Amino acid sequence: MSHPNRRRFLQLVVVATATPLAATFARNAVAADLPHLDQADTMAGALGYVHDSVAVDAAKYPSHEPEQACAGCNLAQAAQGDGWLPCNIFPGKVVSPKGWCAAWVPKA
Ligand code: SF4
Repeated sequence: MSHPNRRRFLQLVVVATATPLAATFARNAVAADLPHLDQADTMAGALGYVHDSVAVDAAKYPSHEPEQACAGCNLAQAAQGDGWLPCNIFPGKVVSPKGWCAAWVPKA
């Protein structure tokens, strides 16, 4: 039979080790589950978001440059597993790395 203090110590070690790992797995699962932004979304439409920067309406957004894309935008965050990017403008959604919207800001 093990000593109660030793058993308690081992229980604390297991909990202390498992808690950060569980939090990391949960965070990754949430990020991987973020849905792609729909171009038909009201906010996306208001900002002229498109999944591919080459599809930007040049007449409507004359200052748009073809090399501008979400992957080079300062408002994008690190890509999730499928390469799509969480964006500060569209919380809870991910945008295409090739996408673009009128809020585009070059990476600092
Ligand atoms: Fe893409 Fe930047 Fe617009 Fe977000 S703010 S959709 S990253 S161009």
